[in-house]
Amino acid sequence: MASYVASQDKLSFIDTALAERAQNQQLRLLHPLQPIDAVQVLRQGRRLINFSSNDYLGLSKHPALIAAAQQFVEKYGAGATASRLVAGTYEIHQALEEKLAAACGREAALLFNSGFQANATILTTLLDRRSLVLCDRLVHNSIIHGILASGARFARYAHNDLNQLEDKLQQATQKSYSRILIATETVFSMDGDRSDLDGLIQLADRYRAILYLDDAHALGVLGRNGMGLACHRAEVDVTIGTFGKAFGAFGAFVSCSQKMRDYLINCCPGLIYTTALPPAVIGAIDAALNLVPTLASDRAALLQKADDLRTNLEAIGCDTGASSTQIIPLILGAEQKTLALSQTLEDRGILAMAIRPPTVAPGTSRLRLALSSCHRLDHLKYLIQIIQAWQKV
Ligand SMILES: *Cc1c(COP(=O)(O)O)cnc(C)c1O
Repeated sequence: MASYVASQDKLSFIDTALAERAQNQQLRLLHPLQPIDAVQVLRQGRRLINFSSNDYLGLSKHPALIAAAQQFVEKYGAGATASRLVAGTYEIHQALEEKLAAACGREAALLFNSGFQANATILTTLLDRRSLVLCDRLVHNSIIHGILASGARFARYAHNDLNQLEDKLQQATQKSYSRILIATETVFSMDGDRSDLDGLIQLADRYRAILYLDDAHALGVLGRNGMGLACHRAEVDVTIGTFGKAFGAFGAFVSCSQKMRDYLINCCPGLIYTTALPPAVIGAIDAALNLVPTLASDRAALLQKADDLRTNLEAIGCDTGASSTQIIPLILGAEQKTLALSQTLEDRGILAMAIRPPTVAPGTSRLRLALSSCHRLDHLKYLIQIIQAWQKV
């Protein structure tokens, strides 16, 4: 190993990392845009139909959310001023948690500042170095982050392969782990497919494993009253919901038992050592929570549009993987091809970002199409038309 060179530029590792990404055409850049409505944006003065946001019900622009955010900011101020345990728990935080718990059919709920933060910090609180975590190969980066930070032993099982999960659980019974935790998602963010919830619950029960589910893409869209696939399932020890997607706002929450909530309040650093969510955000979430159960017909229309889009894409020879939700991957495989289609779409007025390794596995580059109930049929028709024309050149 080369020794530390005091004269070397201390930030040269940054040059190396950026040059490497640029070389591989993987340099990540921020492209500012301006939202017009739930499904249209302006980028560099051009209007684009947006298929890359997670605003599944169009709630980010809903007048009720905007009005509630305004009312809460006027009444309670711009910031919550302290952590939850110090002076940051306002009545509005507590009331929202009670309302969330009731809506999810669970004993308790606890707010977190974001989905990334919830996964990154809660897993470290549930695990120690003598624990074993078994997680689906495709879980979100924030879950991996939490697992690695915990120092627990961890193994991944093949995507949605519960037989392989069971083999690993079986093997684990021969070792002496402090505890075993299964971590996965209900709807996978880059594939739009679902996990087998009943199967997971059975395995967790049989092997006495803690079941940790990230419901980020199901909340608002699927499950009873749209409250996610894991709602009303007391067998799930920890369910993460996020408010930045279908709820159109920001933040996250855990639904769980009262005991789990008490434990997190006492032991979870990402709750204890951070400022509480600001009043405007609480107002927007509260308004979304009032609306979501009433939006059954929007959800049905959204899922119908997704079905139709999948059927139409498959009819022109596109691979949409195992998608069964509002998230539809158009899997092209090669990175260059994916970038080319994304660029063609943008030239024609459609925003559909290319998703490439390392976000997805090598050879599975894709456009991730995320539908909103606000997309119109002519938007979808136009999308298909352009893809079809591109295939012919
Ligand atoms: C988006 C997402 C997160 C992160 O949530 P934020 O609130 O955006 O930080 C976590 N898990 C999954 C599965 C997600 O898709």
